Amino acid sequence: MYAELLGQGRITDPEKQASYLNVIISESERLTRLVNNVLDFSRLEQGNKKYNMVRCDLHPMLAGVMATQKPRFEKEAVQTDIILGTSACFAMVDRDALEQVLLNLLDNAIKYGCQGTSKSIGLSLTTNRNVHTIRIYDSGPGISRSHREKIFEKFYRLDQSLTASNQGSGIGLSIARMLISGLGGRLFYEERDVSGACFQIELPLAGTGEKI
Ligand code: ADP
Repeated sequence: MYAELLGQGRITDPEKQASYLNVIISESERLTRLVNNVLDFSRLEQGNKKYNMVRCDLHPMLAGVMATQKPRFEKEAVQTDIILGTSACFAMVDRDALEQVLLNLLDNAIKYGCQGTSKSIGLSLTTNRNVHTIRIYDSGPGISRSHREKIFEKFYRLDQSLTASNQGSGIGLSIARMLISGLGGRLFYEERDVSGACFQIELPLAGTGEKI
């Protein structure tokens, strides 16, 4: 409807034009995430998912994903805390698959983790001798112990008012876990001392050729 109104030239107020455009952009982005999830879901279910593994420095890749989400963080008044270090962190990954996982986790962090007065999302990357660890955490209510594995099941959504007021299909985390496993890594919920949810992705270092 907004696109039609703009196309017909019936909206002349520049502020209204900009706000309608922003709605169109964010809705298109949401649809793109949804379509990509549905496509991945059916390929993964049928065992047809192909991974295009390339050697990739995770540092600029993660910075790039956070940069694409900047307008969304600004719109939702979300503070970000990005801790990437400076040295190169090479992994063998399918860039699209890893990006899809990061977008799913960031989307959840915004939807469920930034509803209160304190709205912040963190992303960190650390590397030790065997593994790269990416953490995505938020300032929301977190997930109680009894649900921390169930949320990775297909179509599982927590029965809370938070979930009811947010759009979702309950497949994002199950796809994310299957994709990371396809990259030879692991995705799980990490217990933290502070409140809020924290998801941890572990990926093998490039060149080891081993699964974690
Ligand atoms: P969807 O977001 O489409 O419901 P997901 O598979 O991505 O599906 O997430 C499953 C459920 O896990 C969500 O419905 C929500 O209840 C819970 N969840 C996911 N991420 C978070 C988070 N960062 N904070 C609190 N709850 C979360």
